[in-house]
Amino acid sequence: MSSAVGYDDLVSMLRGAAERIRKEHATLSRLDSHGGDGDHGTTMLRAVNTLETTVETSRRQSIADLLEEVGWAILGVDGGATGPLLGMFFTGMAEAARGHDSLDAAALSAVFESGLASVERQTEARVGDKTMMDALVPAVRVLRSASDAGSDVVTALRRAAAAAVAGAESTRDLEARFGRAKQVGARSVGHPDPGATSMGLMFQGFLQGVE
Ligand code: ADP
Ligand code: MG
Repeated sequence: MSSAVGYDDLVSMLRGAAERIRKEHATLSRLDSHGGDGDHGTTMLRAVNTLETTVETSRRQSIADLLEEVGWAILGVDGGATGPLLGMFFTGMAEAARGHDSLDAAALSAVFESGLASVERQTEARVGDKTMMDALVPAVRVLRSASDAGSDVVTALRRAAAAAVAGAESTRDLEARFGRAKQVGARSVGHPDPGATSMGLMFQGFLQGVE
């Protein structure tokens, strides 16, 4: 791809994320069986199936409209704790994408920051609470710092994906302070958080989509 994410690149990114989640959904459910109810993989599968259908059927040709449509579609799915947060992530991204035909590294950073801000308005969970935020926050931070340092979109997304995966892995030693896993207290230690793991996979998929 060129130096910026266009509509078709965004479609590839979204498809890449869906593909990555589909491949790993059994692992995600297994991770959720330690501290939660074992449904995270099937919930994520439902979300990415909806995402893909939306991408295939969307007739809107703007980046912002597609992101908004994807967000609302995911919000409409029965998605436990994950669905609403993921839906708001995409609708938040759409807000900052408005008016852009393509996104260079700086604009892409702004779009992801807006998605993160939208999630932060829905939950009080922050880094260290053993949730998806442990992957999402560092990914967005690293995306911005790579962009500020002059990285192109692919390099910036590569760093962001690595940060998301490292963030997800870092939750292994943490005790859950939000969601169902909070109920099991110290027994949540020893396994990475399912939501953080799926966020790591999503970012790997975004990268795969532009590579
Ligand atoms: P449910 O808990 O409804 O079964 P899922 O199993 O789909 O939902 O998702 C669980 C994941 O959702 C957790 O691993 C965590 O990352 C994330 N999560 C749960 N509650 C919150 C919250 N309040 N804020 C942020 N993330 C959360
Ligand atoms: Mg669950």
